[in-house]
Amino acid sequence: KENILQPEAAIEEQGKQEESIRPQRFADYIGQKDLKDVLEIAIKAAKSRKEVLDHLLLYGPPGLGKTTMAMILAAEMEVNCKITSAPSLERPRDIVGLLVNLKPGDILFIDEIHRLSRMTEEILYPAMEDYRLDLTVGKGSSARTRSIPLSKFTLVGATTRVGALTSPLRDRFGLIQKLRFYEVEELRLIVQRSAQLLNTTVTEDGAKEIARRSRGTPRIANRLLKRVRDYAEVKSFDCICEKVAAEALQLFQVDPCGLDWTDRRMLSVIIEQFNGGPVGLETIAAATGEDTQTIEEVYEPYLMQIGYLSRTPRGRVATAAAYKHLDFKPPNEQLS
Ligand code: ADP
Repeated sequence: KENILQPEAAIEEQGKQEESIRPQRFADYIGQKDLKDVLEIAIKAAKSRKEVLDHLLLYGPPGLGKTTMAMILAAEMEVNCKITSAPSLERPRDIVGLLVNLKPGDILFIDEIHRLSRMTEEILYPAMEDYRLDLTVGKGSSARTRSIPLSKFTLVGATTRVGALTSPLRDRFGLIQKLRFYEVEELRLIVQRSAQLLNTTVTEDGAKEIARRSRGTPRIANRLLKRVRDYAEVKSFDCICEKVAAEALQLFQVDPCGLDWTDRRMLSVIIEQFNGGPVGLETIAAATGEDTQTIEEVYEPYLMQIGYLSRTPRGRVATAAAYKHLDFKPPNEQLS
């Protein structure tokens, strides 16, 4: 189903225009100050010692800039970045092929790294630790291991579920960094920057309106900007101001906080059917028709971030702010 608030990349977004919006250098990467501080030091240190960067694990919800950061690191280190994802490394020879072709210093980016097959993971261990490929040649009693040296490289892994990584894999990353949701002000800057690259005029308030509805996620901000731009063009507005942005996004059923049907349904089920909770994850999944993993990785992090949902050991609870947003009387008022 089409959902413009879904933070996963859509197929239409893998084109040229997308790459023109993607920041190329550190200076264009807005927000994530903690992450940038850590990585800038790592880059400087590696450069001055003429060494490769430590292996880096980036984790956090989709669309926050993990792939972008890997590409920026490569640009800053002046090396190539090879991009792949765990589901396309099914067979051992897939990863072997990539590893043997790396040049010194290159970055290998593996998305969804928690989904690596066991065999692929085991090939990665010596590759990450000693830049060595251990291959088994022959079968049965005549089988031997042959080691092949690899170029020194940097593995950048990305995941939405850091807890799902095996510990031997996690332990081989020198740096483990979390990406957080962006502030409205940061997203406003991202929208303004993208608008400029797309040759579209947006006022500061217009950009802010889009930013507020973007679920703290740059990918969604860029996508909403494009939909609003279409709307403005069709309706012959020469500029995206606050009013135009709000009208357009209302048309696309993006609410003022960026919640969509599933978010609202999750909260209203908890409020109406379970008196505010706690409610188990399975029940919420059944009521919304989403799978539990999507609820946990996509919907809940943002609802918790904006303080509409809390997670307790007994289940999910809707907060007073959620009651207010959905126009329900808060539970304590109902009692009196
Ligand atoms: P992830 O790999 O975490 O799913 P991406 O790196 O693909 O996310 O980012 C999604 C899109 O959001 C990119 O195409 C890029 O244009 C934009 N983006 C991400 N982070 C930033 C940022 N810090 N500043 C500006 N734009 C960003």
